Amino acid sequence: MHSKPKALWLQGLTCNGNSHSFLNHPQLGILMERFELLYHPHLPCTLSLEAVVTCMHECDLLLFEGAFEPTMRRAGVALERLLEHYGACAAQIVAVGSCASFGGVFGSSGGLDAQSQAWSEKIINLSGCPIHPEWLALILSGFAEGSAFALDAQRRPKALYAHLVHHGCTRNEYFEWKVDAKGFGVNEGCLYYDQGCRGVLSHGSCNRILWGGVSSKTRSGQPCFGCTESDFPRRDLFKTRKNMSIPHEVPLGVSKRAYLTLAGIAKTFTIERLSKDLMDD
Ligand code: SF4
Repeated sequence: MHSKPKALWLQGLTCNGNSHSFLNHPQLGILMERFELLYHPHLPCTLSLEAVVTCMHECDLLLFEGAFEPTMRRAGVALERLLEHYGACAAQIVAVGSCASFGGVFGSSGGLDAQSQAWSEKIINLSGCPIHPEWLALILSGFAEGSAFALDAQRRPKALYAHLVHHGCTRNEYFEWKVDAKGFGVNEGCLYYDQGCRGVLSHGSCNRILWGGVSSKTRSGQPCFGCTESDFPRRDLFKTRKNMSIPHEVPLGVSKRAYLTLAGIAKTFTIERLSKDLMDD
């Protein structure tokens, strides 16, 4: 019988959000049976943190959550030293969440791939604040099965990040006809023009792989705030910056001219059905 791949979960500066999200995966037990989990702060594992920091062990898969902070120590040992050792022996490194991928909320020193050129080819960035548990499940299953993932320019798996959050949003029709939501939490209207929704600017599968199997930010009436992108977090999260009523940023890959032309035409029509409260009438 082949031995199971050894997985190790280390943390930098983190709120634990990605761990908590992952703990909600409905098949967590089955997923983790495919690995020997050396260490995770909240899951049953074979090593203590004190044993991990001796650097006498090796892992096949390194999962890193949180921002890398060079001065941080774990059980008295510099995080830099732990990353150097486990990063070198791992066949693959997964930066779990936006802080590990790009620096995120805490980071001033960038993502994991900025820490060592020796690792950069091994890294998969799973950005998101937090990540969807299914995204990590896909990467774990792929690693256990020896599958390779096509990555985008920011080393994110294309299977999860090639499309925009806008794709699959139930409000697409409102976006097309420029019917704006009247506020947060309402069922009707698009959240782009007034509420700062970044679904048309952010890569992610939040509206295709639903949270809890049923929902997403935009489905619940909250704008996407672009947590999968490397410039997250940015200022004015719930505000659409405009200049003379024209949005400062238009949908990704669309010219301002094309956007304004189509928006102008759409606004000359009133779609009666879309001006009604479809859910709460
Ligand atoms: S609410 Fe956001 S994601 Fe949904 S259609 Fe509008 S811009 Fe796109």
